[in-house]
Amino acid sequence: MKLASFNHGRVGVVEGDGIVDVTDLVPGGLGPSWPSTAMPRALADLDALLQEFAGKRDQLPRLSLSEVALQAPVPRPGQLIALPANYDDHITEMTSPNRADRNGFFALAPSSISGPADPIVLPDLPGYTIDHECELAVIIGKPARHVRPEDAFDHIAGYACLVDVTVRGPQERAMRKSFPSFTPLGPYLVTSDEVGNPDELGLSLSVNGEMRHDGNTRDLIVGIADGIAMISSVIPLEPGDVIATGTPAGVGPLAPGDEVKIAVERVGDMTLQVVAGTGGYNIAYQNRKVSTG
Ligand code: MN
Repeated sequence: MKLASFNHGRVGVVEGDGIVDVTDLVPGGLGPSWPSTAMPRALADLDALLQEFAGKRDQLPRLSLSEVALQAPVPRPGQLIALPANYDDHITEMTSPNRADRNGFFALAPSSISGPADPIVLPDLPGYTIDHECELAVIIGKPARHVRPEDAFDHIAGYACLVDVTVRGPQERAMRKSFPSFTPLGPYLVTSDEVGNPDELGLSLSVNGEMRHDGNTRDLIVGIADGIAMISSVIPLEPGDVIATGTPAGVGPLAPGDEVKIAVERVGDMTLQVVAGTGGYNIAYQNRKVSTG
């Protein structure tokens, strides 16, 4: 099953080139416009929702995918967590001292998430490189706290493609990865039953048709189940939370005008345009001390 968010937070089941609007089946319906929580509420008891969907399918509104505004499947998760340095070939290309099984995870701003129809907007950062990273996103279904690896898959609702756009520089990771549109997510949430084993998925990313990343999640250092066990030992994970699982080798710079295509086996693909934005870091403080006298 493929689930999508569309038209300001509505929830749909994608079937071919159509989308069936199941928002009215979600406990609480569409709900308040901000934050957009219909999808997390749908995921909290997805089995019940899909059972009801099966019975009412033909009575629900059906739209063409081309006539809706597709959003990230979870437009504004409560939490966005990432496992950096989680593929050996990426650690080698970065000559990084970090490794996910030693350094663990970090959190970045959920407001960095954008959808499959949105461009990647590059901030104005002269002298900095802004790279793409190609990742499998795990989307949480059932709440997870101190989950054992052998139980972790029970807490996953599904998967999506995720591009982790990253400024290279000395700043903390959250400050380099949290600009708006730096976490394209989509095009849909594909449910766990349809994806099967998430630790053997090919994933690739090309820029203007040129292959940059070509990896497989079997090479994850911290696999999906161990990652959920590790993260949930610290952070209570909730429905709709998104985990970026790390990038294989192949990072490279993005520039305005580029076209980025990410594909994950059994999950889907999305093509994103890169555009120039305005505004960059306010880091005047780096060489400044404010007088308190
Ligand atoms: Mn990353």
